[in-house]
Amino acid sequence: MESHNKNKPLAILVDFDGTITTRDIGDQVVTKFADPGWESALERFHAGEMNIRDLWGCETGYLREEREAETVAYSLTTAEIRSGFREMVRYCDENDMPVEVASSGIHFYVDAILEAHGFGELARARPVVEYDDKGFGVMVMPDGVRDCGMTAMCKCDRVWRLRRQGFKVMFVGDGASDECAVNQADIVMATGALREICRSKGIEHTPFETFHQVLEVAKTSAGNHHRESN
Ligand SMILES: [Mg+2]
Repeated sequence: MESHNKNKPLAILVDFDGTITTRDIGDQVVTKFADPGWESALERFHAGEMNIRDLWGCETGYLREEREAETVAYSLTTAEIRSGFREMVRYCDENDMPVEVASSGIHFYVDAILEAHGFGELARARPVVEYDDKGFGVMVMPDGVRDCGMTAMCKCDRVWRLRRQGFKVMFVGDGASDECAVNQADIVMATGALREICRSKGIEHTPFETFHQVLEVAKTSAGNHHRESN
């Protein structure tokens, strides 16, 4: 930890899909509910011809307004909250440590899942899906949430908003949509594919499987101890 950050209070930014939830709900929403045609976008992404912003924007265009209610219902039955998240949020509430969700995944399932599990009050930034006059999805950013050319919802911007408020920032994530933000955060907690991304880029991080582990590091960091390295 850089010394000038040592005495700043800690804020925690958390990815949603595959981090708060054990599985990536957004992937399942597209796979099960998007109209045929989205697969070619995924192939172009895997071929390196599209970034996450383009992929998500394209896939959203295959979502249909008439299937949204069904999609939300499916998301609610499929989503499992990762162990320890509830305890971490409670601890942070009680200790005035801000927790904010920074999600590339879209509002209707992110909001529904958070609310169904009692996290309706949790601060969050995520894209919103609106529908065109033919009922096809269009991804838009709510006021105050920055669109970025790389990953749609700009997670770096969320890091910097908290920084400007005087916090040092812990980022907790699992995958490619977190790739930019882990370069900006003071402390990185990584699971899933994000571990390899951090390793390959030489970004200091702590691996985790549960939010109990995240909370332990948060408590240590808030207590001005040295950042752990792995
Ligand atoms: Mg994720």
